[in-house]
Parts: sequence; C-alpha cells; structure tokens
Amino acid sequence: MFDCSLLAVGDELLDGRTIDTNSDFITAKLESVGARVVMRLIVGDDKGNIGRALALALRISHAVIVTGGLGPTGDDLTREAVSEALELPLHRDRRLEELQGMFFAAMGREMSPTNLKQADLIEGAVPIEARLGTAPGQWLENRGRVIILIPGVPREMRDMLEGDIIPMLSRRFGLQETGKTLTLLVAARPESELAEQVEAALAEVPGIGVAYRAMMGQIEVRLSSREEGADFAAAEKRVREALGPWVVAEGLETLEGNLGEELRSRGLTLAVAESLTGGMVGETITAMPGSSDYFRGGIVAYDLEAKENMLGVDRGLLRSRGAVNEEVAKAMAGGVRGRFSSDLGIALTGVAGPDRGGEDESPGTVAFGLADKTGTYGWKYRLPGDREMVRRFATTIILTITLLYLRGEDVSHVR
Ligand code: ATP
Ligand code: MG
Repeated sequence: MFDCSLLAVGDELLDGRTIDTNSDFITAKLESVGARVVMRLIVGDDKGNIGRALALALRISHAVIVTGGLGPTGDDLTREAVSEALELPLHRDRRLEELQGMFFAAMGREMSPTNLKQADLIEGAVPIEARLGTAPGQWLENRGRVIILIPGVPREMRDMLEGDIIPMLSRRFGLQETGKTLTLLVAARPESELAEQVEAALAEVPGIGVAYRAMMGQIEVRLSSREEGADFAAAEKRVREALGPWVVAEGLETLEGNLGEELRSRGLTLAVAESLTGGMVGETITAMPGSSDYFRGGIVAYDLEAKENMLGVDRGLLRSRGAVNEEVAKAMAGGVRGRFSSDLGIALTGVAGPDRGGEDESPGTVAFGLADKTGTYGWKYRLPGDREMVRRFATTIILTITLLYLRGEDVSHVR
C-alpha cells in the first residue's frame, strides 16, 4: 500500500469559516489510483505547528500532501515551515522569479517585492508550474518520503493535482487506476426506489459494495469492489441498465457541466425564466466556465405582473389558474425563449413554502416548462422538504429535464 497523509493549512480552516474541501478532493483522487489516505490534519497559519504536523504525518506516510499557505502574504508560512522542519534551506529560483515577473506583466500589474517569496524553493525541490495562479507547487523527496506542497485555492489545487501530482506519483511509484470504483450521479429519482433498483441489479453479483449520498435531488451512487475477483464489469453493466437515462453524470462530472456540454456540442443556446428559485438556475448554469457559449440569460419573474410584463404570460391565464401550473410554466418558457431568441427556453414556477404565498397549491408544488422549435412542454410535481430543499430540488429537476430532453430521452416521468 502507498500511504498518504494530507495537511491542510489555514486559520480559516481551523475555525470553520472555510470547509476543508481540498482534502476530500485529494483523497478521492489518490484512492482512484490505489493510494491510501491514512491521516488528514488541519493546522492554522503557524510555522511551528505546520512543522510539527508535517513531522507527525511523515512518520506514518510515504507521501504527505500539504495545501495552502503558499501565497505571498505574511500569513503564508508553508514554505518556511517545511524548510525549517526538514532543515533544508530556501533559495530563490531564478526561473520562478522570471515567471512571476511575466505573470504580473501579463496582468498589467506591478509586482511587489513580497510576491518574490513565491519564487523560493526548498533545497532539492522540483517546482510545479502554476498554470492558473502565481504560487508554484513543490515536489520534494527526502529520506525516502515525498513532500508535496500545493496552493490552497481549490481551483489551482485541482488543476495541479490532476495535471501534475497524480501523474508524477503514478510514474514514480507505479500507481495505477484501480478501475474498481465507479461513481454515478443520478438525478430526480426518489432515493428509496433508486436503492431498490440498484440492490436488485446487484443481487447476483457478489463482492460489490454500494454507497449512496443524497444531495438535494441528486444522489451519488458509488460502487466499489469489496473482494478480490468480484466481477466489477458485470456489476457496472447491470447497475447502468437498471438506472437507465437517470444517470446524469459520472465520476467528477456534474449535471450542469454535462448539460452545458450537450448544448455546446449541438450548437444550441438556452434562456431561463425563474420564479421560486430566484436566479438559482441561472447561477448554477453560469458556475460552469465557458457557459457563455450556450447560456443567453435569464429573467427572474417573481410576481404575477412580472410574469405578464417580462415574459408575456397571458393575464387571463394567471388570473384564472394562478401562477403554479403547467400552462403558466409553458408560457414562461416560450416567453423567455422569444425574449432571448434562444433555441431553448426553460421555466419554473412554484410554491417554495412554508406558506402558500397566495397560491391555491400546497407548498412544494412546482411546475416546469420547456420550449423549443418543436413546441412547449410542461410538468407539475410535488417536491418534498423545506423551502431551501424545494428550491434546490426544483433547480436539479429543470436541469435534468433539459439534459434528458437533449439526449432524446423520454422526459414524461421525471420526478
Ligand atoms: P495563494 O497563492 O492564492 O494565496 P495559498 O496557497 O496561499 O494560495 P491560501 O492563502 O491558504 O492558499 O488559501 C487561498 C484560498 O483557498 C482561501 O480562500 C482559502 O480559504 C482557500 N482554501 C485554502 N485551503 C483550502 C482547503 N483545504 N479547502 C478549501 N479551501 C481552501
Ligand atoms: Mg494565501
């Protein structure tokens, strides 16, 4: 076994202002190549404590990955701490110094002398280029152990881990994709029904473990091989058959990312009309880098007048049937599609709760609409949970409906 420990550095992690999501991500990546994470530590921005935590981790690990504290400010102490703990001096690297200069020049910004700290390498360390930021990572082999320093910014950390560290570890220590775990993201299915289907699918394939993690309308199903010789391929095939089109993403993919890919590859554009979600759908879509390729924009039409004036929903319809029904959702979808001249328009309107907000429908009732050149389509469901859950569920459902529709699946049974 190749044993790793993770050390996350930062006062904000220690006191809980920031959740240590880096360690979750790194753990999953290491496990996917058959390495084992044996310990995770969080320490504040304190040189002595960073050093002591590193020493502790080194006693039980082949590799220690440290994230955070590599920036230019006074509270970024990881380099110094590791240098002192291992009794290896820091020296300024000419080439890193140049790269720093180029980075700031490209941004049209003045480089302050404190930024040069980021060009300091621990003796014997190999720098790992920062493609997305300014702080390079460092790879250091010392007394039969590997110490890896990575910037704390999650985006930079992920890029460096996937692009450099995992490949380097794999080459250096002969680690390999195990292929014995599989994560499927299933959306808009009741958890109990899903679990029954998966369990039935696995009934005749021994040695396969399954774990579920429910996240507001999305359920992660994780299959893993528990026994030597378990037929993982058969398990995978059966589970995929059982889940059918409801698998909206796999591995580290996301629902919104795959929706974006589907739109982009077809050259289609999308616009959103939202009511109860107040912009959450647009926010989720635009969290994807490159979403401007396919997302035209959105309208938050919260009250009846806004639905009428901004989206052209018929006043008589709103008066007679209220705001929460398929007809209004369809009219909103068609309206927003027209306003933005997009290929697709999608819409949601509902009662988030806890009270009815003047509607006849009970809390949790949400209507969804989709419009494209072939026509308009509508759905209405009762969603479980409190206000927050209903809004998140609704966001997941409209994205799922849209993804399945684009994939040519039957969307009449989404719920
Ligand atoms: P930079 O060079 O950008 O300053 P850094 O290595 O100094 O990077 P930090 O200053 O420690 O990193 O953290 C930068 C940002 O990343 C902060 O917003 C911090 O909250 C966040 N961050 C740091 N470590 C983690 C972590 N383990 N999990 C999630 N977020 C983190
Ligand atoms: Mg910093």
